[in-house]
Amino acid sequence: MANPLSPDALVSALRAEGVTVVERAGWRTNNRNHKGSWGPVNGVVVHHTVTSGTADSVSLCFAGHSALPGPLCHGVIAKDGTVHLVGNGRANHAGSGDGDVLKAVIAEKALPAPNENDTDGNVHFYGFECVNLGDGKDPWPAVQLEAMVRASAALCRAHGWSAASVIGHKEWTNTKIDPRGFGMADFRARVAARLRKPTTPSTGTGTGTGTGTGTPRYQPFPGAAWFRKNPKSAVVTALGKRLIAVGCSAYTSGPGPQWTEADRLSYAKWQRKLGYTGSAADGWPGATSWAALKVPYSS
Ligand SMILES: [Zn+2]
Repeated sequence: MANPLSPDALVSALRAEGVTVVERAGWRTNNRNHKGSWGPVNGVVVHHTVTSGTADSVSLCFAGHSALPGPLCHGVIAKDGTVHLVGNGRANHAGSGDGDVLKAVIAEKALPAPNENDTDGNVHFYGFECVNLGDGKDPWPAVQLEAMVRASAALCRAHGWSAASVIGHKEWTNTKIDPRGFGMADFRARVAARLRKPTTPSTGTGTGTGTGTGTPRYQPFPGAAWFRKNPKSAVVTALGKRLIAVGCSAYTSGPGPQWTEADRLSYAKWQRKLGYTGSAADGWPGATSWAALKVPYSS
């Protein structure tokens, strides 16, 4: 269970995972929140679009159609591996599904076969619509599948979930057949393998991890006392982005330059991830955990 990521946190998480993100104009306020709840979120649902062409698929998923208003997902994953963000909030993608499946996702256990449609999935799941005709013949290019794996892993990492939190639409409800053309067990194995690796940010995303081809330059530890002075600094933003990238987010918005309780709670997750406990994991940065985090140099 988790609060949904803010738009900025979602973009950061995807880019930290090496995904090429395209932001469709208006996506940040495109949602169905006026029709029902969005969150707490528990997982990711993967779909195929039954469409072809990136532009048409993105437009359809943004706006929807007369019988099913948009957004129809959060991100459209094109055949070229680009992820087009179309919705932020409740989206018409998962629909009704099996509450026993939701329980298994929350527990990150093996999924039961869906046999009832008693639960609103649009509350609980992020959705990726992946461009494919779904006829069993339309190929899944390697670059598209890799982007699907990374986009799913990005959300798992940001929320601290395992690959067991990623399901196919056909695993949510017995009324759907998508995605078709690859196995979800194999897909989850790839997400799990991805989560075992550190993030590899894509180039040119402004993550500021260095000086081009040179050795990455990291922010020196500002000192424990610095954080107690309620700082407002680009260093805090850079820290927050790194915490999201390593799956230690307690953010519901931001991260931003102002040091907040969300920064401290996120940093505490990082400390626990390193094995610290008790007062050593109180969220106030120390030199060792700071060095391990590799915060990009910003000022
Ligand atoms: Zn679907």
